[in-house]
Amino acid sequence: MLHTISGLEEVSILKPGYGIEYDFIYPYQVYPTLESKLVKNLWFAGQLLGTSGYEEAAAQGIIAGINAGLRVQNSKFKGSRVQFVLGRQEGYIGVLIDDLVTREISEPYRMFTSRVEHRLILRQDNAGERLMKYGVELGLVDYSYYAGVEKLKSEVQDRLKELKSHKVYSEDINSILESHNSSLISQPTTIFHLLKRPELDLQAFESIVGRFDSAVRTQIEIQAKYDGYIEREEALVKRVKELEDYKIPIGFDYSGVKGLSRESLEKLYRFRPLSVGQASRIAGVRFSDITCLLIALKK
Ligand SMILES: Cc1cc2nc3c(=O)[nH]c(=O)nc-3n(C[C@H](O)[C@H](O)[C@H](O)COP(=O)(O)OP(=O)(O)OC[C@H]3O[C@@H](n4cnc5c(N)ncnc54)[C@H](O)[C@@H]3O)c2cc1C
Repeated sequence: MLHTISGLEEVSILKPGYGIEYDFIYPYQVYPTLESKLVKNLWFAGQLLGTSGYEEAAAQGIIAGINAGLRVQNSKFKGSRVQFVLGRQEGYIGVLIDDLVTREISEPYRMFTSRVEHRLILRQDNAGERLMKYGVELGLVDYSYYAGVEKLKSEVQDRLKELKSHKVYSEDINSILESHNSSLISQPTTIFHLLKRPELDLQAFESIVGRFDSAVRTQIEIQAKYDGYIEREEALVKRVKELEDYKIPIGFDYSGVKGLSRESLEKLYRFRPLSVGQASRIAGVRFSDITCLLIALKK
């Protein structure tokens, strides 16, 4: 390959020059807040936790920083938020940190977005809606930015309602459908329903529904095209969240849980998950053990 570069036709490699070595700590030694389980008030982030990559390091850095900040604030103003952890269904940062603290990492960890289970919901276009509320709550984002996100959301909802309820008839719509090579209708339908067709977008219906702001238009088209899939995904997220919300107290004594396998017991002590959802994702913890754990926690 090097010989194909002008000027390097005769080059020979005497010694490969890429070799990076550094110490790291096992990510199961930190909580999802990235605070060390062994040393209180010590947070870790980045390559030191066995990850590789700029975004990976930055993603952990902001979470560690927020949590360290909350600890300081909490020591001054009791009653504010104690910790900040993002769920797997809320953002890629949530997935990354959850992977780190529940999986055995045998090589530098990189975030593979294409493998993330809820990626249909974790979209760039809805990042503001998913995350900015936390930014405002934590005092990191000015409310005026969020007001814009809320305004867009309510505008999209209003227009969606309109498009889902307003019926159109063959005599009004078939000429438009024909001009876009789309099959004609014989029964009345809604514009929302027609938008599910890949060959149609909102611009096609401008003469009927008027013009839309481009951000509103994008949101409506996404909602229409992926309607069934997004709905299914949201139902799944809700089910998963129930397990996620089932908290395990820090320092919980697993030895008192009847029926736990030895392997699970060892893994649960090692990883010390903060919720049943997290426990269920630890490699080697069986489904039957999760049931035992739920029974013990309910007791
Ligand atoms: C050659 C190369 C190419 C790469 N290319 C890419 C790429 O294309 N894309 C990508 O996403 N990632 C790439 N990476 C990986 C990426 O650079 C790292 O994963 C990332 O920068 C790690 O960030 P970090 O903050 O965890 O650690 P670092 O960026 O290493 O920061 C650690 C900091 O701590 C300081 N420090 C260390 N010890 C002490 C001490 N005792 N006291 C005070 N300070 C100390 C260091 O000086 C350093 O500034 C590349 C890495 C290398 C080496």
